[in-house]
Amino acid sequence: MPKIIDGKKISQEIKDELKEKVAHLKKQGTEIALAVIQVGEDPASSVYVRNKKRACEYIGIKSVAYEVPEATTQEELLEIIHKCNENPEINGILVQLPLPKHIDEDTVIKAIAPEKDVDGFHPQSVGAMTIGEPGFLPCTPAGIIQLLKRSGIEIEGKECVIVGRSNIVGKPMALLLLRENGTVTICHSRTKDLREVTKRADILVVAIGKPKFIDETYVKEGAVVIDVGIHRNENNKLCGDVDYDKVAPHTTAITPVPGGVGPMTIAMLMNNCVESALM
Ligand code: NDP
Repeated sequence: MPKIIDGKKISQEIKDELKEKVAHLKKQGTEIALAVIQVGEDPASSVYVRNKKRACEYIGIKSVAYEVPEATTQEELLEIIHKCNENPEINGILVQLPLPKHIDEDTVIKAIAPEKDVDGFHPQSVGAMTIGEPGFLPCTPAGIIQLLKRSGIEIEGKECVIVGRSNIVGKPMALLLLRENGTVTICHSRTKDLREVTKRADILVVAIGKPKFIDETYVKEGAVVIDVGIHRNENNKLCGDVDYDKVAPHTTAITPVPGGVGPMTIAMLMNNCVESALM
């Protein structure tokens, strides 16, 4: 039987540790505030924003909401970010993605002051991560490292294969696994013979964005499988990029969807907020 990596439990542990830290900081007179900016009313984004605000409340971080209409211009959004950059009472700034099509995401990400970039998407944060300097780490890959470590899964010396090379998951995942001394391979849509590469993995991280794409034919017997994908299937049930029922029996450990990687992303965002107050 594989070990089911319980992201809900591990994320709760992290949130409880952070709650204690925040209470301690409060006693010393340090309050932490996160600006949460949402443009428009995309239902999925609204759920994510609500969950982030709830996590803030649980930990003792003040969340300052900016919920602005879909028609907000790029200049208006940049002005809000600028004000938050300048406001000493705000430690972290989060702009919920995706943004409406008339707004350029890269310009918005670059407008956030790097010392308040709790999502870890600013080029300065990415550069710092790449050369191993202090800075904010992107939440999903940082959460996956925590899942592995807190589940007692050794990374050092392991063959780590990542399927997907996005800026928010695949590429930073590769850098963080490398930092932990894994031997890292990244696959993408132009990879020749994907199965041959994924079957080498001791640790397989799947962030491909296609429901149940990875079945047992892609997985080495006894591998650890981390599923980053989130989708709703035909019955409106959540599923991942991995076909869990087919793959799980061939693994030593696997993350479920829901309850695997998802909860870790918010826990690591909270971790970055706490760190932002200590910088
Ligand atoms: P993207 O769509 O940005 O990237 C998908 C990657 O998969 C691309 O690099 C693409 O390659 C690669 N790919 C697509 N098809 C194939 C294929 N047939 N063979 C090999 N590689 C392929 O996705 P994200 O990284 O943003 O997200 C991935 C998944 O994770 C999504 O389901 C998303 O919803 C989920 N997600 C979950 C989070 C969480 O908190 N749990 C957080 C963020 C994302 P190429 O570059 O060549 O196009």
